[in-house]
Amino acid sequence: MAGKRVVLLGPPGSGKGTQAARVAGDLDMKHISTGDLLREAVKAGSDLGKKAEGYMKKGALVPDEIMLGLIEEELSALGGGGWLLDGFPRTMRQAEDLSRVLERLGQDIDRVILIDVAPEVIVNRLTSRRVCPKCNAVYNTESNPPETEGRCDECGAALVQRPDDEEETVRRRLEVYEEQTAPLIDYYGTHDDLVKVRGAGDIDEINAEIVRALR
Ligand code: AMP
Repeated sequence: MAGKRVVLLGPPGSGKGTQAARVAGDLDMKHISTGDLLREAVKAGSDLGKKAEGYMKKGALVPDEIMLGLIEEELSALGGGGWLLDGFPRTMRQAEDLSRVLERLGQDIDRVILIDVAPEVIVNRLTSRRVCPKCNAVYNTESNPPETEGRCDECGAALVQRPDDEEETVRRRLEVYEEQTAPLIDYYGTHDDLVKVRGAGDIDEINAEIVRALR
């Protein structure tokens, strides 16, 4: 299913980012992670970064109007071709806005994949997550450690913990997911082709299941 247009849904810590990077690479889709785009904007100190930073630190969502501008710019700049959205949409309003943008671009969502993980598993997973600030690679000190402790396998940079992966903020992000993002499961379940993948277990197996769902 090369070049397809896919939305990846799932709670924070479901492995969306890890899986999205692999699947997009293997199946020739552009990986668009709104979380990565926002973190880059914060690092660069751009207007967008300044507006988003406070919300992100608290584990709250960045306002829909800001996100819509960002996603519209990204998708328009791509021209044709496939993409995999990771972390967008996250509210009903964003889902509706996305379908308007796609209509204007003459595009459709081919598949929505939900990575399903129980909340108890997530707190543990996220607090042991480490990320590369340079190339955005994602590791886990328990389930997916780098070859050299504390160093990125891809580029050698020192790994860090995201400030929003501290326990209190993780719990807040899960609440936000339940309130604002989980309703999208029903929305896409009735409008589009939604496939549920179990997100607990081996990274390679989950990856294979997602690829199967896209074929
Ligand atoms: P993520 O890396 O996807 O977990 O995103 C990190 C943070 O960026 C989130 O907790 C939000 O503060 C913000 N963010 C990312 N994507 C969105 C979105 N679609 N809508 C609102 N906020 C977002």
